[in-house]
Order: sequence, then structure tokens, then C-alpha cells
Amino acid sequence: MKPFGYVVAPDPAAAVAMVTGRPGAAFLGGGTNLVDLMKLGVVAPDMLVDVTGLLPGRIERTPGGGLRIGAGVRNSDLAADPQVRAEFPVLAQAVLAGASGQLRNMATVGGNLLQRTRCLYFQDVTKPCNKRTPGSGCPARAGDHRNLAILGGSPHCVATHPSDMAVALAALDAVVHVEGAAGPRAIPLSGLYRLPGDEPDRETTMERGDLITAVEVPALKYAGNSAYRKVRDRASYAFGVASVAAALDVAGGVVQDVRLALGAVAPVPWRARLAEQVLAGRPATAEWFGRAADAELAAAAPLRDNAFKVTLVRNIVVRMLCVLAGLPAGDTP
Ligand SMILES: Cc1cc2nc3c(=O)[nH]c(=O)nc-3n(C[C@H](O)[C@H](O)[C@H](O)COP(=O)(O)OP(=O)(O)OC[C@H]3O[C@@H](n4cnc5c(N)ncnc54)[C@H](O)[C@@H]3O)c2cc1C
Ligand code: SF4
Repeated sequence: MKPFGYVVAPDPAAAVAMVTGRPGAAFLGGGTNLVDLMKLGVVAPDMLVDVTGLLPGRIERTPGGGLRIGAGVRNSDLAADPQVRAEFPVLAQAVLAGASGQLRNMATVGGNLLQRTRCLYFQDVTKPCNKRTPGSGCPARAGDHRNLAILGGSPHCVATHPSDMAVALAALDAVVHVEGAAGPRAIPLSGLYRLPGDEPDRETTMERGDLITAVEVPALKYAGNSAYRKVRDRASYAFGVASVAAALDVAGGVVQDVRLALGAVAPVPWRARLAEQVLAGRPATAEWFGRAADAELAAAAPLRDNAFKVTLVRNIVVRMLCVLAGLPAGDTP
């Protein structure tokens, strides 16, 4: 590993200045992704700016009934927070579905949002990869892509976004607060991540030196009726093969409102807005839930070995919405 310096920044403004002014510097959260990538030689910062002590580690209620989650909050604390568990179960379940207990004890909210893809070629510096080395090619398209994207990919990259938490936050319309060289600003989560297009190395709309300070989750009156389901290859900790975050409001058997986001199927946490539109004002039945999933998945462009994800996502969506609507989960139509 390349030698690197380590500094504890005294406050957010100093941390931003240190990373903005030094091309080789990087923020250090819990280090559970960054340090792994340094050991693999995927990234090689010459200075780590530790921000864990200076970012808010609190979860606060906002005046409207939402949450403001400090970027320094550890994943374990977020998942265990009684208010999050009761009022935003989708978020608590998504965080708990990620990594292991030990990792969640270290991982921070800010770092979780900016963790890098688990595409095997990205993590193997002996292989080409457009995301790691722009213009070098994408061996995943012809190679191992079973776990990669069916939505939103490009000829240049079909990696999936790895975060479970970000999928729940996408469904909840979260807003990311950032401190940058020009001061603070707020970025809707829906505008934080970029699709790969022909620049897969540019993953977010953040600028160099931007520090995530907090995530705000707006109030949602039916967020208590929400859930996260993740399918993975084994029961122990593993990244998702496909996942769904959902919240549902039903009255008199009719869908009043719904939030849906898909994970592990696209380069970004995928808000399923087409499915949401199909369901608005429709009967809360398995048949309509299936139609909504089909509408969203019509744009899927699976590769040789991951077409199974289309059926898998449809089944998860239908079953979850049945459960949230109080219908028997039964056989998926
Ligand atoms: C074995 C294993 C299994 C895992 N399984 C899952 C899983 O199933 N689901 C899942 O979602 N995750 C999983 N993870 C990933 C884990 O959740 C992330 O590594 C973790 O959330 C990253 O948080 P961190 O604070 O350690 O970030 P770090 O590793 O410290 O940082 C990650 C990136 O974010 C940047 N950064 C950190 N904090 C900030 C900030 N405040 N502002 C701006 N930039 C910042 C860093 O510079 C770096 O680029 C797994 C990890 C491992 C090792
Ligand atoms: S899918 Fe993306 S991350 Fe994976 S090899 Fe291709 S360019 Fe690299």
C-alpha cells in the first residue's frame, strides 16, 4: 500500500479546505470501504482526513415530524434508534440488512452513501475497468455480470450501487446536506447519484472536497407502513442480488400513495416512479401490484446471466406490497 498521512480535522470547514486543496486527500469515515480499497490498490490517497469526530452523531426530529441524521451517526445506532424503527421501519430494516454487526458499528451514514461498487473487475486492479481507469473497457458485459445492473446501465458500465441504506432513503425522498468550498447546500438524494453514461468514473454530482454533514428525511404520514426486503445469495452478510424499499398508504382498498425504490439492480438507488404512477388511485390488489412492477421493469436491459433479476424484482415488489396492504402474500401472480 502507498504510504499516506493521517490528520484529524478540527471542524467541517477545515476538513473541506484540506481535501479541496490537496488532490490526493480523502475523507475518512469508518474506513470500512475506503481502507479495503486502499489495500486492494484501487484507490491510493496520500492523506486521510478523519471526519468521524467532527460530524454530528445525533438523530434529531425536525419540526415537521421528519428526521435529521448526522453524517457521523454509525449504521448500528441508526438501525437501533427507537424512533427510526417505529416511524421509518424501511430505513431501520435496510441498514440492518447491510454488512455485519461489526461493520455497522464502524460505518457512518456519510461513508455508507459514498461506498463504491462491488463489481469484481472494479476491485481487481489486474483487470480493465472504465470506472477505475476511464477508457480501459468493461469486461463485465461479456464476463461475470450475474449481480450487475438490469436498469440504467450503459455500454461503458453496468455496475450496481451497493448501499442498502441509500435505497430506503431514495424511497423516503431524503435530502443530503453537504458542506463545500462555497458553503453549505442541500442535494435531493434523487440528484446525488449519476448514471454511468460514458463517464462511469463520475458517480455523484458532488464536487471535490464536498463533505456530507447530514441526511434529512422528510415526514411521510404513512412511513410507519413501510418495509425493506433484500434477496441475497446467503443468509449471512452479503450484498444484495435485488432489494426493494416500499411504503404504502391504502384506504378502502384503494392505493392513496406509494413509494418504491429498487436496490442492487441499477448503478444508482432506483426510484420506481413509473410503478408509483401506475398504482396511484388503483385497487390495492396483487394484480395491480404486478402491473406496476411490469411498467417499471419494461425498461430493463438484462445481460446474458442476470435476466432472472427481472422476475425476482417483480416477485419481491408484489409480495411486499401485498403484505403492506394486509393481503395474503400467497403465490405471486
Ligand atoms: C464484508 C462487507 C460486507 C458489506 N455488506 C454490505 C451490505 O450488504 N450492504 C451495504 O449497504 N453495505 C455493505 N458493506 C459496506 C459498508 O456498509 C460500507 O463500507 C460502509 O457503510 C461505509 O461507511 P464508512 O463510514 O466506513 O465509509 P468509509 O470507508 O470511511 O468511506 C467511504 C467513502 O466515503 C467517503 N466519505 C466518508 N465519509 C464522508 C463524508 N461525511 N462526506 C463525504 N465523503 C465521505 C470516503 O472518502 C470514501 O470515499 C459491506 C462492507 C464489507 C466490508
Ligand atoms: S461494470 Fe463498471 S465497474 Fe464493472 S468492470 Fe464494467 S466499468 Fe468497471
